[in-house]
Parts: sequence; C-alpha cells; structure tokens
Amino acid sequence: MNQHVKTLSLPAKPRDFGFFVDGKSVAADGREVFERASPGHGVPVSRVPKCTPQDLDDAVAAARRAFDDRRWSGLNGADRAAVLLKAAELIRERQDEIAYWETLENGKPISQARAEVGGCIGMFEYASGLARSLHGDSFNNLGDGMFGIVTREPVGVVGIITPWNFPFLILCERVPYVLASGCTIVAKPSEVTSATTIMLAEILSEAGLPDGVMNVVTGSGSSIGQALIDHMDVDMLSFTGSTAVGRHCVKAAAGNFKKLGLELGGKNPQIVFADADLEDAADGVAFGIAFNTGQCCVSGSRLIVERSVAQDFEKMVAAKLEKAIVGDPLDEATQIGAITTDAQNATIMSYIDKGREEGARLISGGTAVDVGGGQYIAPTLFGDVTRDMAIARDEIFGPVLAVMPFDSVEEAIEMANDTVYGLAASVWTKNIDKALMVTRRVQAGRFWVNTTLSGGPELPLGGFKQSGWGREAGKYGVEEYTQLKSVHIEIGKRAHWVE
Ligand code: NAD
Repeated sequence: MNQHVKTLSLPAKPRDFGFFVDGKSVAADGREVFERASPGHGVPVSRVPKCTPQDLDDAVAAARRAFDDRRWSGLNGADRAAVLLKAAELIRERQDEIAYWETLENGKPISQARAEVGGCIGMFEYASGLARSLHGDSFNNLGDGMFGIVTREPVGVVGIITPWNFPFLILCERVPYVLASGCTIVAKPSEVTSATTIMLAEILSEAGLPDGVMNVVTGSGSSIGQALIDHMDVDMLSFTGSTAVGRHCVKAAAGNFKKLGLELGGKNPQIVFADADLEDAADGVAFGIAFNTGQCCVSGSRLIVERSVAQDFEKMVAAKLEKAIVGDPLDEATQIGAITTDAQNATIMSYIDKGREEGARLISGGTAVDVGGGQYIAPTLFGDVTRDMAIARDEIFGPVLAVMPFDSVEEAIEMANDTVYGLAASVWTKNIDKALMVTRRVQAGRFWVNTTLSGGPELPLGGFKQSGWGREAGKYGVEEYTQLKSVHIEIGKRAHWVE
C-alpha cells in the first residue's frame, strides 16, 4: 500500500540519473549533463546525461539485436503478459516515488501526479491481456484448394519520443502496448522530464523484461531526438509533441519509410448548449482548461457557448477558475501547479498580451501568481473573442480560455471545426439529438459528452487533421505496432501451369 505523505520536501541535492541501454543503467561518466530545476521552486533537482550519437547507435543496436533474435517476440503471449503484470505491481510499489519525481520535474500537483501513475498501472494490466489475445484472421472460404491466414507480426524496433507535459502517462500509454505486440523500444523523453522514463526502464528490467528490449536515451530534441527519428535501423516511430516537430518526423520517415504514429497539438472546443446542466458544464469547462495548467494536448481551450446563456456562463466559469487553488505542487491541497518550462511561461504570457492587444475582454486571471519561487500563471478567461484572434486559433498550451458565442447548432459545429487541428472536443447538453449530431460532425479523435478529459486504457487516443496519425492505447494501440502478413496455403495437389 502507498503511504500518502502529507508534507513533501525538496531533495537535499540534485539526483543523478543514468540512461539505459541493453539492460544496464549508464552513468554520465565524461558526458555533458542536463541539470533540471523544479519549475515549482526554481531549485535544481535532477541531472541526466546528454547522450552522444554513439550512445544512440548503441541503444538502437541493442534493440535491434533483441528484436532479431526473438528473445521477446518469440515468447508466448502469456510470458509477455507476466512481465507486464509484474511491472504493474512494481509501479504500484513505487507509485509515490514516481509521482514525486514527476512533480519535481514537471511542476504538476502531487495529488494529480499520483493519480496519473495509478492510471499507468491500469495501462500495464490492460495491455497484459492484449499480449495474450492479439490475433490475426483466417479465410476458410477460398475453396477446397486454398486456406488463407492473416497473421500480425511486430513491426520491429520502435522509437518513442515523448513531451514534458505528461512524461510518465504518455510513456505508459505506449510502452505496454508496444511490448504486448512483441516490438523492442528506444525511448527518448523530453530533456526536462527524463527521470520517470528512466525509472520505468529499471522497473521493466526488474520485472523480467529481457535486456535490450527497453532502452532509454536522454538529451535534447534537436540532437538526440533528431538522430533517433533519422535512424535507418528504427522501424517505427511513435512521436508525441508539437505539430512542428511532427513535420520533422514525416520528413525523416522518407529515409527508410519507417512507420509513423504521431500525436500532435490541439485547439479543442468545449461546446456548451443552453439546455446543459450549466453547473456541471462550468465545472467541467474550468477543469478542461486549468487541469495540468492547460498544458494538455487535449485541453478545452475554446469555449463555444450558446449566446442566450453566454454572459451568465462565463461568470460561472470565472468563479470556478478563481476558486481553484494555485500553489506549490508538493502541497496536497494544490490544484494548479507550475508552468513547466521558462519558454512555455513566456509563450503563455505573450498570448495573454496578444489577447488584450487584439481586443478580447479579460474576464479573469491574466497575471503571474507569486508562490514564493517557481513560475505560476492564474487561469485566464477572455470574452469577446473572434475567430481571427491568435488566442482563438493557436494552441497556447497554457491556462487560457477563449469564449466565443454561437446562435445555432450548425454554427457551433462549424466554429468547432474551424481549426487545423482535430484532437479532442466536448459537448455539454441534456438533449440527446444535439449531443449525437455534434459528436458525429465535429472532427476530433476523442470526444466527450457531458464530461471532459476522461480516459483509460481501453479507448484509443489520437487525432484527426493536423493533430496526428494513428492511434495509441486499447486494442487499436497494440495493432498499430504490428504489420499484417497474408499466408496462402494450398491444399492437395497443385493444378500445374506447365503440363
Ligand atoms: P516538442 O515537440 O517540442 O517536443 C516533444 C519531444 O520531441 C521532446 O522529447 C523533444 O526533445 C523532442 N524533439 C524536439 N525537437 C526534435 C527534433 N527535431 N527531432 C526529434 N525530436 C525532437 O513538444 P513539447 O514542447 O515537449 O510538448 C508540447 C507539444 O506537444 C504541444 O504541441 C502539445 O499539443 C503536444 N502534445 C501532444 C499530445 C498528444 O497526445 N497529441 C500529448 C502531449 C503533448
């Protein structure tokens, strides 16, 4: 059982993490290191090595060997499932420790980090079942002389690149599914949030994963990340991050035609009809933008609300946002933590300035919050937002919500779809016809009706339009990491071509 520690303190000194290749942790040794300061406190907490190109080659070679000699893909599903279940157990044992490092490096509230790690345990448990149930198809209708089988085979060496907003959760929405398929992995976490990815590699090793199946390289995106996406011995890439870097992945895939899974940005609508339970909707909309300080690819950053209730509703949302507790991420009571990077902090503040300059009406927030160290921004609500404004169009990746009224269902759908993205959307109404019509016609890979930001291991994740390619999680997630092989089996004597 986890002991929920009430008061957590900062580490006495930064902790050194090694990267992980071929079943072993590798210390920085002579390499340069990246030192990470906790965004909630401004105090150095961790150091990771900056891997060299040779380190990356070693990691890919280890994953290649582990794939080619079938030490993992050649096991039966039950044996793979046993490793995944053991990993789930070990994550449960280390839940508090993982959550602590997630909070230190990312700045998210500790209670939230703990819940996310809890969700990751479920991912491993669910994927363990998929390791056993993954199957192909058969065709018994090809006539007496032929039998057809379709098998699923693991794609090979998979590169996994993750962002800093949910370092452990996003990783665990991929790793157990990739492993269930029989593939091997080289993961590259964001340079600012690498600790928990390294911990997962250690946990998997302890759970009995053969050496070389899970490798982790650390370092910057422009050096080691770019080298990973360009690598000719990587068969598939799962990239989660910005649409801009997603484009680099598409270009890099031209090298060896590696398969791609891309989970990119979003500018997600929350559509609120006058007939919704407005109390619920206000709470959900506030949560949808302020959770993880709006640094979610699926944050509901556009509030598209029926004009007849817009004025009252924006007040209700503002009241919720003003009441939510912004504070030290290590404090159990905190609901909104720190902004994860200095660059992101500057970006969010510049969008708040832009909103004012472009004539939007600031309803609440709009300022930095002084918590006595670190960087914090009050959740911010803008009214009178028009579609051409930057705060209505760009993914801000921060707690900034743009209110835009509509007059008809058609207009709401059209406004919701007026974006290059198609990651997620929510609709709030008690009218089933409207809910279904909007669900069908809004272009988004994830949809919520009278709720937002919920999820679990069963349902797939991914986007329409410029929000990405492919799906992660659920049975669909495992299937992404397989390729199909058609097997034709002739039965009996062949009808000869040459007599
Ligand atoms: P980012 O694209 O800057 O970085 C993501 C990862 O890519 C990091 O590990 C980074 O080191 C690496 N990277 C950077 N440049 C690279 C390059 N040239 N080649 C290879 N790798 C490179 O994104 P971020 O700032 O970490 O995260 C924010 C973005 O991620 C937002 O746009 C957000 O919408 C998106 N995101 C999407 C999802 C999703 O599931 N769709 C989830 C989380 C975040």
